Amino acid sequence: MFTLPGEYIGTQEEYESGFGTYKNSEEGEIRSSNTGKLKLDKKKHKAEVRAKTKIPKMQAPGTVILGKVTRTRDQVLEIEPAPFESKKFTFIPNEKQAILHISNIKDDYIDDIKTQYRIGDIVRAKITGVDETTVELATDQGNLGTIKAYCSKCRKPMEKIGRDKVKCSQCGEKTTRKTAKDYREGNIK
Ligand SMILES: [Zn+2]
Repeated sequence: MFTLPGEYIGTQEEYESGFGTYKNSEEGEIRSSNTGKLKLDKKKHKAEVRAKTKIPKMQAPGTVILGKVTRTRDQVLEIEPAPFESKKFTFIPNEKQAILHISNIKDDYIDDIKTQYRIGDIVRAKITGVDETTVELATDQGNLGTIKAYCSKCRKPMEKIGRDKVKCSQCGEKTTRKTAKDYREGNIK
């Protein structure tokens, strides 16, 4: 059976969570974290979702992804990863929550997370950790950071005017952002 990320597979009593699946402990279920063929090993009571492509690897630490900031909290940003295709692989986000902690934004001390990113910003980030429910991201490298930031006042895209500084060409608002080296020059969809 062809299975998509997030799809229900069975209960934790029925199956053990194998490759390409995860446990939803609250509900006591096993769900797919992968796109591919569902294999149910009745003897070992193990569920697996294997893909023919290299998709599953792409959720692993080291992968650089693009995402949109959907929520800013005190210590953490919530980011919605976007699907993308490169020469080597297709990246399809799974159902997990992608987060960027304030300490992984950049090497310098940050007082307020909103001085670095705002809701709607497009961010290039590296996956640093994956667990049952969460994908952890970091942007503490030169090639990482926002590649397109939006003015929090008028929602227009902002221009880079210096290292980690941006300006809105519409309303003139100047502010700080952790910008990637190729801000608004790189591959942006
Ligand atoms: Zn503006």
